[in-house]
Amino acid sequence: MFQLFDSHCHIHDIEFDADRDQVLARARAKQIGMIVIGTSLADSEGAIRFAESQPDVWATVGLHPEFLNPLYQQLNAGKELETSLNVEQLRQLIRSSKKVVAIGECGLDAYRLTDEERSIVIDQQEVMFRQQIDVALELDLPVVIHCREALLRLATILQSYDTQDRRVRGVVHSFTGTWDEAQPLLDLGMYIGINGIATFPLRKGQTIEQSLTRTIERMPLNRMLLETDAPYLAPIPFRGQRNEPGYVERVAEFVARARQTDLEGVAEVTTRNVREVFSV
Ligand SMILES: [Zn+2]
Repeated sequence: MFQLFDSHCHIHDIEFDADRDQVLARARAKQIGMIVIGTSLADSEGAIRFAESQPDVWATVGLHPEFLNPLYQQLNAGKELETSLNVEQLRQLIRSSKKVVAIGECGLDAYRLTDEERSIVIDQQEVMFRQQIDVALELDLPVVIHCREALLRLATILQSYDTQDRRVRGVVHSFTGTWDEAQPLLDLGMYIGINGIATFPLRKGQTIEQSLTRTIERMPLNRMLLETDAPYLAPIPFRGQRNEPGYVERVAEFVARARQTDLEGVAEVTTRNVREVFSV
């Protein structure tokens, strides 16, 4: 029934208030299923309410690590930020709806942290991340992981849970790392989320060997999820504009070209992957 899946978007966000129905209609014309991602518990409540009202949308519940970053706090001064996790409220939100399919987005975000901040802030983020992993393991749910500039630390954390009878399952979303960085995560059983960043040109000083394209070429397709992260990170040729789930098709096209395979195959396998991870 679904041709493609946008496994990570935020279309319950205020950015879509003016034309959400049209955005949904464009995604539906392409038979795209959608998972809307909560970034705070308040935001997750909105994601659940939205998913409850749509047949082809599911939701996640979680707390984003960025709220602990001093720069983010400065830029959002005056807004109410959730800087600690109410675990019981998290459990209640999960229980409140059958549409909740995962915990997240949660994880680590070292973007623009000074060296001084880094040691303190990442430790705090890890505490919050582990709280969410613990609930995921308790309730047997997958985790949607956000990780910026901290992939080694992430692998170490996931490794610490990896025992014979249990392991964290889920997706490292918006992955931009090298093949060397992807491998330990794949070894731990994680899926990798690819979005419009894949279509952007190489960063300054980056070689093709270090590129995301190489990771996309080499990783097993049966561990790849496609996403938009709408409203952010629109793929080329829409870069800089508001992103939307319909554009996940552009990401699929890029992956098919990079792997020298057909779009239908990429769509079929990545859609099956979403169904496996999130049981939708
Ligand atoms: Zn996101």
